[in-house]
Amino acid sequence: SPPVHIVGGGLAGSEAAWQIAKAGVPVILHEMRPVRATEAHQTDGLAELVCSNSFRSDDRETNAVGLLHEEMRRAGSLIMASGDAHQVPAGGALAVDRDNFSAAVTAALEAHPLVTIRREEVDGLPPEDWGATILATGPLTAPGLAAAIGGLTGETELAFFDAIAPIVHFDSIDMGIAWKQSRYDKAGPGGTGADYINCPMNRDEYEAFIDALLAGEKTSFKDWEKTPYFDGCLPIEVMAERGRETLRFGPMKPVGLTDPRHPDVKPHAIVQLRQDNAFGTLWNMVGFQTKLKHGEQARVFRMIPGLGQAEFARLGGLHRNTYLNSPKLLDATLRLKVRPQLRFAGQITGCEGYVESAAVGLLAGRFAAAEALGRAPAPPPVTTALGALLGHITGGHLAVEGEEAGTPRSFQPMNVNFGLFPPIEAPTTKDGKRLRGNEKTVEKKRAMSRRALTDLDLWLSGTAVQAAE
Ligand code: FAD
Repeated sequence: SPPVHIVGGGLAGSEAAWQIAKAGVPVILHEMRPVRATEAHQTDGLAELVCSNSFRSDDRETNAVGLLHEEMRRAGSLIMASGDAHQVPAGGALAVDRDNFSAAVTAALEAHPLVTIRREEVDGLPPEDWGATILATGPLTAPGLAAAIGGLTGETELAFFDAIAPIVHFDSIDMGIAWKQSRYDKAGPGGTGADYINCPMNRDEYEAFIDALLAGEKTSFKDWEKTPYFDGCLPIEVMAERGRETLRFGPMKPVGLTDPRHPDVKPHAIVQLRQDNAFGTLWNMVGFQTKLKHGEQARVFRMIPGLGQAEFARLGGLHRNTYLNSPKLLDATLRLKVRPQLRFAGQITGCEGYVESAAVGLLAGRFAAAEALGRAPAPPPVTTALGALLGHITGGHLAVEGEEAGTPRSFQPMNVNFGLFPPIEAPTTKDGKRLRGNEKTVEKKRAMSRRALTDLDLWLSGTAVQAAE
């Protein structure tokens, strides 16, 4: 069959190339380094880790990224095999020697007879005569290609800058304090008038919270990240710096809402959370994009009544990040709807992290290989970590209440986490004893992991193809 072209030899592009070649299909991989550098890469190695050297937890039983590691190993991942071969001690995490890791990925691809590596920048859209092409150019996609993608998708559908608010697991919100209600009980399309979760603050709580926000340690911006703030994207602490009352007139305004337990007391301020996935397991803190350091975010945001025990599926942040509005633009196998010969992979699709980027590369590679061999590509079951991640990106199960079908209101990059999986009935007892609190959560994660690996094995053996249809 004709070769599949891949642009970008990072975590995603390298894995995609491996999966395609392993299926017996030729690949041409175009990587611009060392001809052109990015703001973060330091070497010309493939799959360079630009910052930390950690693939995070390797616990496949109770951690979603550990589960993703295991699923990728079972699917023959080059990134995982190279990571495993070049581990350094890091407790329960999988950390790697970054140079040996990148050298191993580069050597494996250079040695594969079906892989050709071309060191060149693709400056604009790939020519039509390339046929099937995977774009895996990452968060720091070179400007020429980024502009061309923006031209194809419409500029508002391609973000260049990422201002994200924290996301909280529903289970960890104290609904004895918080309550559900939309402002002025307004029901949007598909909504009920009780679409938001509200956390009330009295005057003292508000003042203490503002003090903590102002004092909290912020992450400093590197020079290349100096992008001006634009409306609707101001970090919460920058708003607080503009005046102690600014937040009370902005995202924390206490109007149109009544605390059902204290209907006579008017809250001084209210923090709202918006449902973030169709399962209702994840909730987004409205207007809380922030540059506070991660440890500080957990400490400061747990001061909010109702969030005292909050567990965060993702913390907030602000950095340069090129990514697509994928739920709108991509089909179920990561192809651009308006030009299906282009497929996307890696962080540009709106996943977050080394492992997740490689995982989406693995999927894009398998889908492209299946097509090249004349087979229908079968997406993984949504119960697997690979499927949950793909679902987040392509929006297969992201039809949040109150939104028009197929137009997600706020698609933002995310790490894999158990909130993205379909809920499961977890065992309530173990060894004859009733489980509670944390024990119950751990058992639920174990049950989700077991279900995932069973379903993954079926998918890998090909039987899931019929099941999915
Ligand atoms: P990349 O690994 O960046 O690969 C993209 C490749 O495409 C690059 O090699 C680039 O040179 C090439 N390229 C770009 N444009 C073109 C073009 N036009 N033509 C040809 N080649 C091109 N994740 C973590 O898990 N942990 C971290 O600590 C971490 N730190 C990060 C720090 C920074 C500064 C950034 C920007 C991101 C960080 N990430 C981190 C997030 C993310 O996981 C990584 O960016 C990851 O490398 C993304 O994988 P990718 O394959 O999508 O992109």
